[in-house]
Amino acid sequence: MLRTIRKNIISRVASRHIAGSETADALHVCRWANEKGFYSILSPWAGANEDSRTMFERYKFDIAALHSENFNCYVSIKLDAIRYDFSLLKELLEFGRMYNIRIHVDSLSPDSAPAKFRFFEKAAEFNKILGCTLPSRWQRSLADAERAIALGISVRIVKGQWADPSNSRVDCRKNYLAIVQKLAGRTSHVGVATHDVPLAEKALTCLSSLGTYCELEQFFSLPLNGIGTAKKLGCPYRIYVAYGHPGVPYNVRFALTRPRIAAWIVADYAFKPKRPWHNTIAVSC
Ligand SMILES: Cc1cc2nc3c(=O)[nH]c(=O)nc-3n(C[C@H](O)[C@H](O)[C@H](O)COP(=O)(O)OP(=O)(O)OC[C@H]3O[C@@H](n4cnc5c(N)ncnc54)[C@H](O)[C@@H]3O)c2cc1C
Repeated sequence: MLRTIRKNIISRVASRHIAGSETADALHVCRWANEKGFYSILSPWAGANEDSRTMFERYKFDIAALHSENFNCYVSIKLDAIRYDFSLLKELLEFGRMYNIRIHVDSLSPDSAPAKFRFFEKAAEFNKILGCTLPSRWQRSLADAERAIALGISVRIVKGQWADPSNSRVDCRKNYLAIVQKLAGRTSHVGVATHDVPLAEKALTCLSSLGTYCELEQFFSLPLNGIGTAKKLGCPYRIYVAYGHPGVPYNVRFALTRPRIAAWIVADYAFKPKRPWHNTIAVSC
């Protein structure tokens, strides 16, 4: 009974954080972003029982859809959605390279990290269009930053939705800046993905001061509170637009230790805020 109630609450909260069920729903938000002078990220989210071939075709469909759009957007994928099938990843990267669309790999739970880096090493020839996500909650991310530099792939830094099982005491703000310092001046592209504006400002300032191209990335359904900071620092601003299977972009398990998260859950459950792109007319893709 309690489990069903929890499931229903989470599924309603999650429904607030996707643009809709189809590519066209997400593209509508991306087009709005483009009109505002922002870049975007298109990310199809899979259900637990989604078949890997279906998701593979979905990713390919989105790459082709972006190719026919005239705006700066890349595709973010999850390796579990293609069941860690390297042949599917390689085919996607070939497809992305053909259309010159970047393919970025989201970060999942810590136990998935070693396999992810093995894949990056095998896919090194695609480094120009390949990106990885480094969560600052994990101790290993500093070493992974070094691996990303060696591979020449682009990097997105997040705090991360999963704690580090080997060290739950990692200070994610401190480690975020340590990763930034490691990357600054040594890599070509860093996405600073956070809604923690003071942290974003420090990170972007450090990267820019050493000549590293950087952007501020924010999740489309969370407060878009970094636009002014990105503008002030002269960095592009990019929004991550998820669609497909509903998911929560913050860790509900941290609600017990971070009361703010419990408040966000309540707000997401109770309100469906009107977003600026709801005022524009959707065009099918
Ligand atoms: C572009 C992007 C890509 C991401 N990709 C991944 C990924 O691949 N893997 C992964 O594990 N995680 C990913 N995340 C999620 C990330 O790890 C964090 O869980 C999430 O961004 C919240 O952390 P924060 O850095 O924004 O800081 P927080 O401290 O959680 O939030 C900073 C401030 O933002 C505001 N805020 C944040 N969330 C809410 C909310 N729900 N409601 C109201 N206000 C809020 C508050 O003012 C808060 O003080 C991504 C996040 C972004 C923005």
